[in-house]
Amino acid sequence: MSDYRSEIKNIFSKFNTQEEFEYTSCTGTNWAKGIPASRREIISPVDNVPIGKIYLADIKSYHQVVSKAESAFKQWQLIPAPKRGEVIRQIGNAFRENKEDLAKIISLEAGKILQESLGEVQEVIDICDFAAGLSRQLYGLTIQSERSSHRMMEQWHPLGIVGIISAFNFPVAVWSWNAIIGAVCGNVSIWKPSEKTPYTAIFAHKIIEKTLKLNNVPEGVFNLVIGDYTIGSEMSNDPKIALVSATGSTAMGKKVAQNVAARLGKSLLELSGNNAIILTEHANLDMAMRSVVFGAVGTCGQRCTSTRRLIVHEDIYDEVKTRLVEVYKRIKPNNPFLEGTILGPLIDKEAVSMFNTNILQSIQEGGRLLVGGGLSKELPGNYVYAAIIEAHNSHESVQNETFAPILYLLRYDGGIENAIEIQNGVKQGLSSSIFTENFKQAELFIASTGSDCGIANVNLGTSGAEIGGAFGGEKETGGGRESGSDAWKNYMRRQTCTINYGNEMPLAQGITFEM
Ligand code: NAD
Repeated sequence: MSDYRSEIKNIFSKFNTQEEFEYTSCTGTNWAKGIPASRREIISPVDNVPIGKIYLADIKSYHQVVSKAESAFKQWQLIPAPKRGEVIRQIGNAFRENKEDLAKIISLEAGKILQESLGEVQEVIDICDFAAGLSRQLYGLTIQSERSSHRMMEQWHPLGIVGIISAFNFPVAVWSWNAIIGAVCGNVSIWKPSEKTPYTAIFAHKIIEKTLKLNNVPEGVFNLVIGDYTIGSEMSNDPKIALVSATGSTAMGKKVAQNVAARLGKSLLELSGNNAIILTEHANLDMAMRSVVFGAVGTCGQRCTSTRRLIVHEDIYDEVKTRLVEVYKRIKPNNPFLEGTILGPLIDKEAVSMFNTNILQSIQEGGRLLVGGGLSKELPGNYVYAAIIEAHNSHESVQNETFAPILYLLRYDGGIENAIEIQNGVKQGLSSSIFTENFKQAELFIASTGSDCGIANVNLGTSGAEIGGAFGGEKETGGGRESGSDAWKNYMRRQTCTINYGNEMPLAQGITFEM
């Protein structure tokens, strides 16, 4: 294993950054200091040792950033979109050059295995490439007018300030989906990262600083406010924030949605999942096993798209159970910097306690723990053994998302419609998947009567998504769509324009009146 702590030390000095980070906000290249009273220690889930101390912003410094962002928006929106795209292309290159460094910070702070952290930074790079191309494709429609010598068209304008509230488990990718796509659309953004992963946000800003300076990007286009939920809450109530994009738990999303709706603002919500894979009697089990294990165990079960429920046809149930338990017995939690580790630590002690509570609750409800559970005694930090529990979909423990590596094994009999009913029988609707070699089953799964989720995969798992598609889920997952496809429309306002180039003044709907 590499000496990750000394590598991290080198990264801090390379970026001229102290472990005790005294700044609470950044408007691009200008950092503002906080007060020591707001200091908070950040502990790494990897070894339970502090990374350093950060300072949390107060409401006053949040509003100072908002006024910088307001004036930056006036300038940034006037820069032609392809020129904004060129800045974003260079930002993508800055992340390319610093990919490994940022990935190591993510692994230390969020506890992801290094390969996944590298994948997350790659997602930022890919979004920059996508956005650079998109900057020349923010197309509107032309529409046939019913009046002569009239032209109708739809055009898209930026919204203003996009507020970004992000979760700990994707500490930088979710920022890029919003800030980068938002920026080519002509918006400015204010990022409030998770208070559990502030260093990733700090280093992401350090990485883009040089590019912003080189391109004379106005101060206030990309902003960062390091704060806790009070800043997120202020943002959701602030009429100056045109769009609040919030990623996190459904409980948080409900609060944000109500605040934003009360002022008739726009919100974009990416909330909890409760994702399932269906294995039918026609599944290719060798393919399915890899997806199930990675989906349930990867990121220590802390992806919004993690596989929580496995819905298995009775004909193959016993075989699947035996094979999975065998694999799980071999999976040991380990340091995420160590090559070969698939199961890293949970984010903090609270997450460990929720993991334990959920297993206990499940057993009380009639669930049967087949393998796993419990904390590793050999490693410091929050390393748990991934668990499989035989359960029923109606159990409370199955219905509520636990952000931990617990896989619920659920049996179904009869036709595919029974499996789909179980799959849809939860409040959340993010990611879903089926393994089958039978094309009718596959088609039924993605038909309108099939999966009710935002993501429905055939012969691949629930976890992970390509940036080219629109990402998000239904029901209590919040209904938002981010990243690729036409998700950019969330960051713009649509304007319908009619132009009369004739000499008459015909009214719509054939109305006539004399004057
Ligand atoms: P969390 O809800 O605890 O916190 C997320 C963010 O919301 C943090 O920045 C936090 O400071 C902020 N926040 C908390 N209360 C707030 C309030 N009242 N007003 C405004 N902001 C507030 O979530 P977490 O533990 O960081 O992340 C895990 C959750 O995120 C899981 O439920 C997971 O499914 C979800 N998630 C969803 C997606 C998705 O795309 N659907 C992606 C990643 C994570």
